[in-house]
Amino acid sequence: MPHLSLQTWLEKHNAVPFLQEAVQCNTVNPPGNERLLASRIQDVLHQHGIDSHMYVHENERVNLVARIAGKNPGKRLVFSGHLDTVPVGEVPWEVPPFSGEIIDGRLYGRGSTDMKSGLLALMYAFIYMKETDVPFNGELVFAASFGEETGSEGAAVMVEEKQIPPFDAMVIGEPTANQIFVAHKGVLWVEVSSKGKTAHGSMPDQGVNAILPINHFMNGLQEIRFTYQKHPLLTDPTMSVTTIKGGMKTNVIPDQCTLTLDIRTLPDQKHDQILAQLQEVADRVMTHNPSASLEIKPILNLPGIGTDPEAEIVQAACSVMNKSRDDVKGVNYFTDGSVFSRYAAGDIVILGPGIPELAHQPDEYVDIERYLEAVSIYYGMAQAYLK
Ligand SMILES: [Zn+2]
Repeated sequence: MPHLSLQTWLEKHNAVPFLQEAVQCNTVNPPGNERLLASRIQDVLHQHGIDSHMYVHENERVNLVARIAGKNPGKRLVFSGHLDTVPVGEVPWEVPPFSGEIIDGRLYGRGSTDMKSGLLALMYAFIYMKETDVPFNGELVFAASFGEETGSEGAAVMVEEKQIPPFDAMVIGEPTANQIFVAHKGVLWVEVSSKGKTAHGSMPDQGVNAILPINHFMNGLQEIRFTYQKHPLLTDPTMSVTTIKGGMKTNVIPDQCTLTLDIRTLPDQKHDQILAQLQEVADRVMTHNPSASLEIKPILNLPGIGTDPEAEIVQAACSVMNKSRDDVKGVNYFTDGSVFSRYAAGDIVILGPGIPELAHQPDEYVDIERYLEAVSIYYGMAQAYLK
């Protein structure tokens, strides 16, 4: 039977209605409920004769992995995406967030851009690799994770429990408007907690004020200088104080205060060194004020990614899309790739049909044409890489 062109095949297999359906699956994290979407994807894979494995983490939190082997041994390529979305937010939407409504060639809804369009485009390219009889070598893996939006927990479980094998290359379908991203920043979230002792507000000398050391710590942060090499594709590292919580009543000396920092790093920066610098600041505060008690704890610690633009998978993307290495870019947000990069030395490319600026925004949408285009890009990349 002669094979249908990819676009006809996508139409026949309801690529657009299935994306609407995916958006209608509420996988807002927390709580996640990723099983809702994972089992729909599993059905579609099954209809095409592809076995997949659902790894249940807890109740409705699941990872889904499917693998197809080529004719001969060879390299292994992983298609990766996440199943969850961020919450809808407080700002009212003009288009209902779980409608999947289509207006003027745009499909709207929470997760349309970040990243159900990318995930399904990867899935269709994966299935198409199996359906076309064009032989390939090695292995193609499809891996859908839970809990990316709250710190890549699903990817971490995938790696710890070896649900995916080590890989030579990986494509992550996060929103890039189908541009080729090869670098992203790392993230280091730190909680600094200060402990004191309560006392009546009229007798502060009877207590230990936990807020004051946090103030001194914050002032001390200004002395921190990061050591790093400038990155050709990424902006400089940043450090922001993002929350402060402390005290309970106007007339009570506070015994607790917590501050959080959001630090975004370059791929060559050592997070341990940054933590040591923060500890030095805390130590100085405690030396000056012996009753102060500060503790520093990393709450999310993921390295950045810097794939060589000359890597084969990047070149595959460039050739499929007729781009040069000058078109290869970097992004500030982090992805599951941080977790996967610690697991395997494979080259990671981030490329997806969603629009980066719309991620996590109200009235998020994806251009349908770009979604369908992503399928052919992924398919072309897999063919070129696994030939
Ligand atoms: Zn995402």
